[in-house]
Amino acid sequence: MQKIRRVAVLGGGITGLSAAFYLGKLARERGETIEVTVIEGSERLGGRINTLSRDGFVIERGPDSFLARKLPMIELARELGLEGELTGTNPAAKKTYIALNGKLHPMPEGMTLGVPTDADMFMKTELVSEEGKQRAFEELDIPPDWREGDESVGAFLERRMGREMVERIYEPLLAGIHAGDLYRLGLQATFPQFKAMVRAHGSLIKGTRDSQRIAKAKAEAQANAAVSSGKTDNPLPASVFMTFRNGLSSVIEALESHLRADGCHIRMGAQVEYLERTFEEMPESKGAYRLHLSDDTAIESDEVIFTLPAYATAELLAEHTDVTALTNVRYVSVANVVLAYDETGFNHTLDGSGFLVPQGEHRHITASTWTSSKWLHTAPQGKRMIRCYVGNAKDEKGVELSDAVLAGVVQRDLYDLMGLTAIPEFVEITRLRHSMPQYPVGHVEATASFREELSKRLPGVLVTGAAFEGVGLPDCVAKGKQAAEAVLAKA
Ligand code: FAD
Repeated sequence: MQKIRRVAVLGGGITGLSAAFYLGKLARERGETIEVTVIEGSERLGGRINTLSRDGFVIERGPDSFLARKLPMIELARELGLEGELTGTNPAAKKTYIALNGKLHPMPEGMTLGVPTDADMFMKTELVSEEGKQRAFEELDIPPDWREGDESVGAFLERRMGREMVERIYEPLLAGIHAGDLYRLGLQATFPQFKAMVRAHGSLIKGTRDSQRIAKAKAEAQANAAVSSGKTDNPLPASVFMTFRNGLSSVIEALESHLRADGCHIRMGAQVEYLERTFEEMPESKGAYRLHLSDDTAIESDEVIFTLPAYATAELLAEHTDVTALTNVRYVSVANVVLAYDETGFNHTLDGSGFLVPQGEHRHITASTWTSSKWLHTAPQGKRMIRCYVGNAKDEKGVELSDAVLAGVVQRDLYDLMGLTAIPEFVEITRLRHSMPQYPVGHVEATASFREELSKRLPGVLVTGAAFEGVGLPDCVAKGKQAAEAVLAKA
């Protein structure tokens, strides 16, 4: 009788659940039987994804959306029958503001990842001084750098666009995604497209402009082709970011029910504490690894997919291999403060998607989303919702303030920056401790060597998740799927 392969997936966040989902799907397609067990240490699935429904509001306590141009999340939504739930941002709330000297200024139009492509709009902004603008345009004449090897995002952008652009535009915009310090984040692991663009087009500004033109032409060609073929029904919302009408937890709930229906074992509430190698001493049928859980049970498995934060993976693998590549990934804590209001007495128009705060402004808020304007499904009629982040790589102290003090300092910042005096109906605070991985310079190379060594020492053990190759949700889905493919590709 053919032996049934047992695969343990460590972690029930989006990466782990995607890995389990694609293991089941791909095995079925190949006519193979595979026994999958997801082991989640906490009492709930979803990891950082955590939607709360309260008084008709859809509140995201972790991520709130995903980049639509990266397709794996949309493909997963289709496979789960959730396509109809997808929704985009409100096109009327496009404007994003950046704080400078206590005042909010609109980000100039025509900027892509902080690269100015519309010179006229850029020249009008008060966010950057005339010298700063001139220095930014000099980028067009700076020759590409052909040096190999990684460097920090800050060093690269300062060299190309000037220090002022880094402080006023890139730092709030790009560091906001990682809550990080641009001078410590590795370029190759976070924004490799910047270097590739300079090499392909000679300059960031020119490359971004060219890519925009190509993307626009491609979208027009696709739309024309759809019209001429008559396939125009059910188009997806044309939006840079997307989410699900009832929140991101919809995808976790759908994954859980598919996995359960598929016979996948889901263990919650017990952490994996120890990975034992059993392949030397155990007869083949007993499996190659034994995972010891905190409830004193153990799970035998032939293959193991790790989707845990780097520090948790490092703890379990330290006795088997050198885990420096993982322990070098620092995790930053942030707090998510959501404020819900009635429209009566709400003295701001929320005419945009929110604002970003450079570290030099010395505020508690690092970024704020005007959620009820940006995402129309998130607040009931007549209500408003604002979400604010506190804490970043340079200052995490605000995260540990008491609820009352944290709510107070956030409201003080909203008053100073927006003039908002309205009293919230309620405030929801979520502290996401050690949640934002900071990919250091050299991360891509270091993790590649780590994986190579791991595959020799612990064959059948794969490591993936947000600690590697991108933190975005579509990246996590893609990594889960790739891990499933890698397991099944093994005879
Ligand atoms: P996680 O979600 O961290 O899941 C790992 C799981 O492993 C957890 O459930 C944990 O309990 C479990 N675990 C840990 N140790 C053990 C153990 N020893 N045994 C068993 N289980 C264990 N991305 C976007 O695309 N859009 C956004 O808007 C966005 N916003 C974000 C906002 C915040 C505040 C944060 C923190 C992240 C955001 N991200 C966003 C990034 C994205 O949310 C994460 O990268 C992604 O959710 C990580 O998924 P994961 O499955 O790899 O890891």
